[in-house]
Amino acid sequence: MLSPAVTISQRGVDRVLSGHLWIYRADVLDAREAGAGEIVRIQDRRRRFWGQALHSSKSQIALRLLTREERPFDRAFLAERIAAAASFRQQVVEGAQAYRLVSAEGDLLPSLIIDRYGPCFVIQTLSQGMDRLKLQVAEILQEAFSPRSILERNDVAVRELEGLPEQKGVLAGESISEVEVEENGLRFIFDLMGGQKTGGFLDQRENRQAARHYARGRALDCFTYTGGFALHLARQCDSVLGVDTSPEALELARRNQQLNSLSNVEWKEANCFDFLKAADQEKQRYDTIVLDPPAFARQKSSLEAALRGYKELNLRALKILNRGGFLLTCSCSHHVSEADLLEVIAGAALDAHVAVSVVERRTQSRDHPILLTVPETHYLKCLILRAL
Ligand code: SAH
Repeated sequence: MLSPAVTISQRGVDRVLSGHLWIYRADVLDAREAGAGEIVRIQDRRRRFWGQALHSSKSQIALRLLTREERPFDRAFLAERIAAAASFRQQVVEGAQAYRLVSAEGDLLPSLIIDRYGPCFVIQTLSQGMDRLKLQVAEILQEAFSPRSILERNDVAVRELEGLPEQKGVLAGESISEVEVEENGLRFIFDLMGGQKTGGFLDQRENRQAARHYARGRALDCFTYTGGFALHLARQCDSVLGVDTSPEALELARRNQQLNSLSNVEWKEANCFDFLKAADQEKQRYDTIVLDPPAFARQKSSLEAALRGYKELNLRALKILNRGGFLLTCSCSHHVSEADLLEVIAGAALDAHVAVSVVERRTQSRDHPILLTVPETHYLKCLILRAL
């Protein structure tokens, strides 16, 4: 049976030719045949075939390209894509049991996230089309990995744009929430049901490891969440302080600390902006500082305000960083380019009267692939800087 067709404009065709996977509603000429979340054939006005896509009846992103091939996008095709993603992880994930197995567009599976935490898998299906494939995805995971449990963390606001409800729960297997896994030689507990995102910030794994090379002396981990950077720093530093506003996250950070028998780490519940200001007034100084704030610019319209936020944060951190010390600073907003971030920090360094060199320019861990023709997939920027 032929799948329904959606007709797109020349601009839509140009999008496909540019290698992007999203076609906006404004470039759809006729979607009358297509139901919510169906897999459709994309054609132009002359009925020329351009690929197959997930159709959304609600989102501004009307079509998410799955393939340029005519071969039906069936369960076997989906399983192949997941297997290809998994095989790449075997090449690039080292020393970690928690990683992103499927990273949506970065693995040519738009709007599908699969995070693996040892024996547990957590999935997010963020479009109408992928949501319809949810149980197929769970079945494929069961066949390939025989996991202890598969959970969904679809309690995310973006689903609203698709007209999908926010929900979380068990899709298959046991109802496990907490799981203990290894990362870079440390043990971490992840709260898969109650934690932020799918439980952890897996995209920073390689940066947490990289931070170890430079960590020394007195260290400060701002926006520590459950202590990811802090505990990596602890082995190299005299003392570490982790700061976050979330008491639940800090509770888990304490448990992670105990799990690793690290006695030189303390935690503080505070707003990092206020904390950094007070630390400067009290003349506190650090040799290693990590800044890993949440995304300040979720939309393009908030870019200006976000850049002011990054400037202020980095200025305050540079003021309390000792000469010879290291600052690892991040932005996870795709709207903030690396060039933007470098410019903002250069301004902060001038204001703080400190010369700063760029030691490393990094990004998200390799299990969060950047698709060259979809700039949105390059979201995390991580700079390691040194105060001279
Ligand atoms: N560095 C962490 C991830 C940080 S996620 C890791 O490697 O795992 C961002 C964290 O910032 C969240 O834990 C959130 O609770 C916290 N947060 C958000 N706004 C904050 C603020 N103004 N001050 C302190 N913490 C904040």
